[in-house]
Amino acid sequence: MTKPVLIIGGGPAGLSAAHALAISGRKAILVEKEDRLGGAPILQGYAKLVPSHEWARDAIGGMVNRVVSNPLVDVKLNSSVQKFDGEPGNFVATLKDGSTVEADTAILTTGFTHFDSINKPEWGFGTYPDVVTTVQVEQMISSGKGIRCPSDGRVPDRVAILLCVGSRDRQIGREWCSKICCTVSANIAMEIREMSPKTNVYIYYMDIRTFGLYEGEYYWGSQEEYKVKYVKARIAEVTSDGKRLLVKGEDTLVKRPISIPFDMVVHAIGMDPNVDNMTISSVFDVKLNKYGYIGKPSTYLHMAETSRPGVFVAGSATGPETIDDSIAQGTAAAMAALNFANMAVQAAAE
Ligand SMILES: Cc1cc2nc3c(=O)[nH]c(=O)nc-3n(C[C@H](O)[C@H](O)[C@H](O)COP(=O)(O)OP(=O)(O)OC[C@H]3O[C@@H](n4cnc5c(N)ncnc54)[C@H](O)[C@@H]3O)c2cc1C
Ligand code: SF4
Repeated sequence: MTKPVLIIGGGPAGLSAAHALAISGRKAILVEKEDRLGGAPILQGYAKLVPSHEWARDAIGGMVNRVVSNPLVDVKLNSSVQKFDGEPGNFVATLKDGSTVEADTAILTTGFTHFDSINKPEWGFGTYPDVVTTVQVEQMISSGKGIRCPSDGRVPDRVAILLCVGSRDRQIGREWCSKICCTVSANIAMEIREMSPKTNVYIYYMDIRTFGLYEGEYYWGSQEEYKVKYVKARIAEVTSDGKRLLVKGEDTLVKRPISIPFDMVVHAIGMDPNVDNMTISSVFDVKLNKYGYIGKPSTYLHMAETSRPGVFVAGSATGPETIDDSIAQGTAAAMAALNFANMAVQAAAE
C-alpha cells in the first residue's frame, strides 16, 4: 500500500498527524472544512496558551507553517468528505467539490464544538451584553484591546468567572468534565489582573480541577501572586439591578445565599462533541460513544482505532482533550495508521 493517508480536520491533532506522516516519508491529504488550518486555537482567536504561555497564533501557527511547507502534505481547505467507500488500502473519498481522492487509511481529527452558552439562559448569556464566554475574553486579549465591557467599552472593576458552563451538568445532558477550563480560567484571570491591576477577579467553582502540575502555577499562582479570589458556590442565576450584573446563588462553604455585583461575568464554556459527528459517523461508518464523541473501542492495545478497520481517530474528536494530548494522539494515530498499512503490505506479500 502506497496511497496517502487521509486526515480530516486541521487542528492541533490533525496537524501533528500530518507532520508525523510527512517526516516518515508518507504522503498525507489534509481536509479542513474552514478556510484556514489551526483548529480552535486559531479559528477562535485564543490568546496565550496553557501551559507554554506562547500566543496561540505563534505556537499553533508554527505547526501550520510546518505542514503547509511540506510537499508531502496536500492541504484541501473549505472542504469535507461527503462519501467514503472501499476497504483498508483502497479507500475512496468524495470531497465537497465532487473530486475524489484515494487513501489507504484515514484519521479523524475533527475536534469539538464550543458549548453554546445560550443553552444556559439562567446565567445571563444572550440577555446581558456584559455576560461573555472565555472564548470572547481570549479574543479580547489576543486582539490587543484588553479587557473591556462589551456594553460601553469600560474597563471592568469586578469580573466573575463561572466555571463548568456546559460541563458537569446532567440537567442539560453534559455530564463530562471539559478538563482544561479550570486551568484556562485561572490563566485568563491572571492575564486580566496583569493587564488591569485595578480589576478584581473572582472565580466561582464547584470543584477546582487544575490537574497535574497546573495546580501550583495556576491554582496557587493565581491566588498568591495575582490575588484572584476563589468562591465555592452553587450559582442559581445572573441578573441585573439596572447598573451592574448580579451573581446569585449559595456560598456552599458557609451555606449562605449570595447576591454579588459585577461589571462582567465570564462563562467558562466546555467542549461539546463536534456538531458534525452524526454526519461523520454515517459517512465514515464509525460508532460514536454514549456522549456523542467518536468512539474508541480499545484504550490500550489498539490505540487510536475506531470501530471501522483502517479509520483512526485522535484529539478532542474523542472527548475533551488538551492541546498537548491532542498533539500526542495525532502522532500516535499517524503511527498506528502507518503500522496498519505496513502490516497489510506484509500480509499481501505472504
Ligand atoms: C476557551 C478555551 C481555551 C482553551 N485553551 C487551551 C489552552 O490554553 N491549552 C490547551 O491545552 N487547551 C486549550 N483548550 C482546548 C483546545 O481547544 C483543544 O485541546 C484543541 O483545540 C483540540 O485540538 P483538535 O485538533 O483535537 O480539535 P480542534 O482544535 O477542534 O480542530 C478540529 C479541526 O477540524 C475541523 N473540522 C471539524 N469538522 C470537520 C469536518 N466535518 N470536515 C473537515 N474538517 C472538520 C475544524 O474546523 C478544526 O479545524 C481550550 C479550549 C477552550 C474552550
Ligand atoms: S475543568 Fe474545571 S471548569 Fe472545566 S468542567 Fe472540569 S471542573 Fe468544570
